[in-house]
Amino acid sequence: MATVNSILARDANSYMEESASAVLKTVPANTNAKTVSEEIIINPPVVSTGNGRARIASGIRIGEDVKTLWFEIEDTYKDYLAADTLDAFVVASLIPAILRGENIRLKGPMSGKLFYNLSYSLIPILSEYLEKPRVTNIFPDTFTSATTGGAGVAAGFSGGVDSFCNYYDHSHGRVPDDFSLTHFIFNNVGAHGQKAPDADRALFLRRFSRLRDCAEKLGKPAVAVDSNLDEFMGQKFELTHTLRNTAVALLMQAAFGKFLYSSGYPLSETKLGPDSNMSHLEPVILPLLGTERLECMGSGGQHSRVEKTRRVTEIEESRHYLDVCVSPHNAPGGIANCGVCWKCIRTATTLKIFGKLEEYNKVFDLKSFATFENLYLIEVMGGKSPYVKEIRQLIAEKNFPVPRFVRLIGTLLPAAAAQQFSMRIIPALLRHRSVARFINRSLAW
Ligand SMILES: [Zn+2]
Repeated sequence: MATVNSILARDANSYMEESASAVLKTVPANTNAKTVSEEIIINPPVVSTGNGRARIASGIRIGEDVKTLWFEIEDTYKDYLAADTLDAFVVASLIPAILRGENIRLKGPMSGKLFYNLSYSLIPILSEYLEKPRVTNIFPDTFTSATTGGAGVAAGFSGGVDSFCNYYDHSHGRVPDDFSLTHFIFNNVGAHGQKAPDADRALFLRRFSRLRDCAEKLGKPAVAVDSNLDEFMGQKFELTHTLRNTAVALLMQAAFGKFLYSSGYPLSETKLGPDSNMSHLEPVILPLLGTERLECMGSGGQHSRVEKTRRVTEIEESRHYLDVCVSPHNAPGGIANCGVCWKCIRTATTLKIFGKLEEYNKVFDLKSFATFENLYLIEVMGGKSPYVKEIRQLIAEKNFPVPRFVRLIGTLLPAAAAQQFSMRIIPALLRHRSVARFINRSLAW
C-alpha cells in the first residue's frame, strides 16, 4: 500500500498541476469541452454464476455513462478467472482513455508490474500509434498481492494458418515443457464481424462448435470467452486486436502463466508509430502486457507465411479444420473455405505448390479455386507484396510449373497492377464465372 500511496501522491501532484493549468485556460460555458480532470473510473470486478456460465464484470464510468464490461465462460472454467484484479479491464480501457485524452482511475486492485509497464512504456507507445497527445495516467487503488498463478499455457485458436502453426511449434516436445500449449482460447471480442452484436455472437458460436471438435482431436481443452468488449471499445478490430485478446488472457491469469499470441506479421515488419494494424507493434507491446503471474509473448513471427503453411500441413487435423476464409458465405454448404477470397487463394496456391492441395479437398472449394488459379498466379509472378514474393520463391525452389502465358503477363504488367488480382479482379469476376473459366483456360498454355 505504501508503494501505491507514494505513487498516487506523486502522480496526484503532477495531476493537480496539470488540472490547475487546465483551470487557468478559459472554457466557454455550456459546451462539452473536456479538461484533463475527466477520467475513466473502473469499479471492482464482480463474479456471478448461473445457467452453467460464469461471468466477470465491471461497471466502468466513461463520461456521463456507466458501461458494464463483461466476459463470460463456461462454469467449468470459473476457477480460471482472476477476480482479485482489474488488469483485464484496465487493458480494455486503454484505447478509450487515450482517444478521449482522459486518465484511468481504479476502485480495485491491479498488477504493479502491469501498472509500471503501461504507465512508462505502453501508454506512450499507444499514444503515438493513435496519434494522440500523451496525457493518460493510471491512478491505481491497490496492487494485487498474488505473484504466482497457474501453470497453463494458453493460445488463441481460430483454425487459421497462424493458429495451427502456433500449435505445431508449441506441442509434441518442440519446446521446453513450460512452453507447451495446454489450452486454446476462442474469444468473442470483435473478430466475428463487428456488424451487429447478435449476428457476431451467432457466428462466434457456430465457429466455436467446429473448433471445439478440432481442439478435442488435438487433445487440448478450448475455452470459449463471450464478451461485450467489442461494443465497449467501439474501434476497428485490426486497430486494437492485441489488446482485446490479451485482456481475455489477463482475465484468466489464475490458471495461465503464459499467453502465446500468434503473430500475423513476420518479426521484420515490427515498427512503432502511427498505424492501422496493431500486429506491427506486437513484439514490443506483448511483453508489456504481462503481470507477476502472466507472461505474454508473440509466436510465429520468425516464420514466413509459406513456412507457416508448410508446418500446418504436418498437422493431420488441419485437413479437416483449416479455416482461413474471409468470405465463408461464398463457400458451398459444409465447406469452410470458399477457395477464392484473397486468403483462400493464397493458402490454396501455396498448398498446391507443396503438392498437398488435394488432401484439403474437404475444407476448400477446389472447383472454385480451379476457376481462378491461373489468374491468381499472375499476381504471384508479377506482384510486389512480401507474401507473393515468398510464393514466387517457393515456385522456383519446387520447380512448380507455371503456364508460360501467365509468366509473360506477370512480367509485362506493372507490379502495382498485378497486385490487384486477389483483392479486386477475382472478386469482380465471381459473378461471371463462365467468363472467369474462359480466361483461366486461355491462360493455361
Ligand atoms: Zn475464402
